[in-house]
Amino acid sequence: MPEFQTSPGMRDILPPESARWRRFVGEFAAVVGAAGYGQVIPPLLEDLGVFTRVGEATDIVTKEMYDFVDKGERHVALRPEQTASVCRAFVQHRPTTPWKVWYSGPNFRYEKPQRGRYRQFDQVGIEVLGADDPYLDVEVIALGWEFYARLGLRRVRLVLNSLGEPADRAGYVEALRAHFEANLHLLSSESVVTLAKNPLRVLDSKREQDAPLIASAPVIADHYSPEAAAHFTAVQTGLGALGIPFDIDGTLVRGLDYYRRTTFEFQGLTLDSAQNALGGGGRYDGLVESLGGPPTHGVGFALGLDRTLLACDDEGVFGAPSVAVDAFVVDTTGGLEALRITAELRAAGFRADRAYEGRSMKSQMKLADRSGAPIALIIGSNELDAGTVVLRPLRDGRDQYAVPRTELLDHLTKAIT
Ligand code: AMP
Repeated sequence: MPEFQTSPGMRDILPPESARWRRFVGEFAAVVGAAGYGQVIPPLLEDLGVFTRVGEATDIVTKEMYDFVDKGERHVALRPEQTASVCRAFVQHRPTTPWKVWYSGPNFRYEKPQRGRYRQFDQVGIEVLGADDPYLDVEVIALGWEFYARLGLRRVRLVLNSLGEPADRAGYVEALRAHFEANLHLLSSESVVTLAKNPLRVLDSKREQDAPLIASAPVIADHYSPEAAAHFTAVQTGLGALGIPFDIDGTLVRGLDYYRRTTFEFQGLTLDSAQNALGGGGRYDGLVESLGGPPTHGVGFALGLDRTLLACDDEGVFGAPSVAVDAFVVDTTGGLEALRITAELRAAGFRADRAYEGRSMKSQMKLADRSGAPIALIIGSNELDAGTVVLRPLRDGRDQYAVPRTELLDHLTKAIT
């Protein structure tokens, strides 16, 4: 056992899995980039207040934050999510609205590590600040949906809800509180604590003991104002127009207290139900204001990379790309020719590798085989004298052949296409 290993809930992502991660973010960038979203890269670390303002009543902020006082006596925290940072950036830079941005990168939460739950985990996400239109909610949801389709995932369920306008929600919260308080003895002790902070979050409880009381709780739909009802109807109409199926679930409240109107979650149907949220989001107001900005509408989502890749594994899609090179150069004349040829190949856009340390022909051929390259380019003293290179196909049993050194690039192109 080595003295140092990754801390609990933290992982090294090694090749070829790391290439899969990069491709994941690349696909996401392509999907949202095509819809006019630009990338924002906030710092990993912010003043603690950025996060506490945004999620005072959430576990993420109260129990799971990696916060500390830095050498300049500033109380800072590693970000547990990125929406707060995006809103802070919006207030700081005052971009023109609507501000459509995407992000990717790691977040940190001191959680109990388990499959699909880590202390450092990656998310990709989008946020739109400064626009209030139900079809924008539809665009945001549709981009998440399209991304999953791009990955090849089929077993994804979209769950949709509306929390109404703030006043509707306030009325509903009181109705919920009354319901749960009247039956306090039936609630789990954890939910009794949650109830005191935020009755809505009791609906999030996955404990069996709470299920009957949640099932008999008042429903938000009975509290919608005409405006909220119209917004929700328009979102559903828009999703229908795009052919995106969804299920409505009145208990979907999501973590943040700032959510209003639309909330949604993408669930991976192949995953264990306690851990099946691939991502989610919704419409929020007040976040920008709480960070010192003007009243600003917002809508967005965050998708977890780790859990989405677990779902991909389950469905056998979006595997790790091969990291094979196009050609492996085997040089038994001292290595200078391999140095020239690999540089030439790489400059021409080929992926090329070679052996070092003056290995024998046999040992270099072994490495060539292991590299996954379809072709070995062999230079011995005969080839060097004759100004040729031998192309040896490694995968399909074809015979090797010599080509003039000056025509190597053309021949290699032909050999690998
Ligand atoms: P949240 O920001 O809590 O709404 O989470 C959005 C998505 O991020 C979830 O649906 C998960 O896919 C992912 N996620 C959240 N927390 C973790 C974690 N600790 N480990 C891995 N993925 C996570």
